[in-house]
Amino acid sequence: MNISFDLDGTLIPYADEFNTEKIGWLGKLFRIEKIRKGAKDLILKLQQDNYKIHIYTTSFRSKSKIRRTLKYYGISVNRIVNQIENQKVLKSKNIYSSKFPPAFNFDVHIDDLSGVRIEGEKQNFKTIIVDPSDLNWSETIMNNLKNIEIKKENAQ
Ligand SMILES: [Mg+2]
Repeated sequence: MNISFDLDGTLIPYADEFNTEKIGWLGKLFRIEKIRKGAKDLILKLQQDNYKIHIYTTSFRSKSKIRRTLKYYGISVNRIVNQIENQKVLKSKNIYSSKFPPAFNFDVHIDDLSGVRIEGEKQNFKTIIVDPSDLNWSETIMNNLKNIEIKKENAQ
C-alpha cells in the first residue's frame, strides 16, 4: 500500500506546534529543517510493515531539498510530489482540488488539514487527519491504517 505524508503541519512544524527530533551542529550548519518527534521511528516502522512511503506537499520546496532533509534524519522515501508537480498533474487531469492522491497512486494520504479530509470525502480518496497537538500521532496513524486494512479485507 502506498502512503503519502503531507509536510507542513504534519511532519515539519510551521512554528512550535509539536516537538521535534534533535538536530546536530551539522544539521544547523546546512539549515536542515526540524521534523516532528517520532517521524523517523514511524516511517521506518511503516516501511518494515511493507508500506511504501511518499511525500505529497503543496509546498514549492525542491524535491532535492526535501530528500536531503529527510536523509539527514535517516529517512528515505519513494516518491516526492511537490506543488510544482501537483499543479501540473492535477491541471492536466482537470481536477479542482488542492490535493488528489489517486493521481499519484497514493492509497492513503496523511495530512493535518480537515479541508483535505473533506476533499477526500468528495473526491473519494482516503485520508488520515492528524492534529498537530496529537502527542500520540504515531498511534493515531497506525490505528487508522489498521482500520483501513480491516475494511479493505471485509470488502473483498
Ligand atoms: Mg499541512
